[in-house]
Amino acid sequence: MATIYYENDADLSVLKDKKIGIIGYGSQGHAHALNLKDSGANVSVGLYANSPSWAKAEEEGLTVGSVDEVAKDSDIIMMLVPDQIQKQVFDEHIAPYLEPGNTIMFAHGFNIHFSQIDAPEGIDVSMIAPKGPGHLVRRVYAEGKGVPALVAIHQDASESALATALAYGKGIGSTRAGILETTFQEETETDLFGEQTILCGGVTSLVKAAYETLVESGYQAESAYFETLHELKLIVDLMYEGGMEYMRYSVSETAEYGDYTRGPRVVDENVKKEMKKILTEIQNGEFAREWIIENQAGQPKFKALRERNIQHPITNVGKEIRAMMGWLNQK
Ligand code: NAD
Ligand code: MG
Repeated sequence: MATIYYENDADLSVLKDKKIGIIGYGSQGHAHALNLKDSGANVSVGLYANSPSWAKAEEEGLTVGSVDEVAKDSDIIMMLVPDQIQKQVFDEHIAPYLEPGNTIMFAHGFNIHFSQIDAPEGIDVSMIAPKGPGHLVRRVYAEGKGVPALVAIHQDASESALATALAYGKGIGSTRAGILETTFQEETETDLFGEQTILCGGVTSLVKAAYETLVESGYQAESAYFETLHELKLIVDLMYEGGMEYMRYSVSETAEYGDYTRGPRVVDENVKKEMKKILTEIQNGEFAREWIIENQAGQPKFKALRERNIQHPITNVGKEIRAMMGWLNQK
């Protein structure tokens, strides 16, 4: 069984005499900074000079400084800039100021696990990774609840890295739900695998294949959009609330029978074989190397793929359909 930490396993007083620097004020950054401040911690936010987030963070009552200033001033530094620029920000603006006894924290293990960031001796290296986007971490905290998180320790110089990480996790509200113990390796590999094979890559490829099948067979694009993309949320919400069994209990028996007999023909043994290959590329570092080189080259392939995907006909049909639902929070 996994080890899960709750409210009584974490002590906020560990943070009492510590200064916490949150680097970045995006999705995760704003949620961590505001929740920690509301939990009574001494927080400041580190940003680059022309960051549009600077004024926003100040308006929300936070102390803001350059990454160098905040890194120099902080005992605990949480890295919440995009993963692709963390190495550069760390090497140039954080590493020079690290002192023995400091803690450097992450919300995703990529840069530590794939050795992009190398923390000096005497520094604690840990992770608190909320299992949800930042706006949810903030909203749920404000409602008195918490989003579950993962905790991992990479380097425990102080022999109290876990207590510090759990106190941080409590400060953002996550011990209210539970913080699951993991490792940088497990978090990084499962996170990449999940987003590639199901959450982002798997689902969008499945939607596109089903949409194209219907449209190529002469059905209206609008009907295809409703059936293959729009209704996905209803099904996912049911699974989120009560697992696959609750979704199957809620749909018709016709839908349930089609699920059992046709689903495995779509996602067959070949799909699993390919998933295992994708997992191997994650485990042996091949994916990480590819993505790091892609970024060093200025993301040429990534940008072309993004453009090609926007050109897919489903983009315009989606705009038309979503405009019918004025009550939707249009993105
Ligand atoms: P984000 O893109 O939303 O925000 C990044 C922030 O960094 C922005 O405020 C940006 O202005 C700032 N920034 C960019 N360049 C900078 C620089 N050179 N110096 C200083 N600040 C700079 O990022 P995010 O999604 O919050 O991700 C942060 C970390 O959290 C990542 O490690 C990510 O893997 C992890 N994470 C994200 C989520 C999520 O749902 N978004 C969930 C769990 C973990
Ligand atoms: Mg993830």
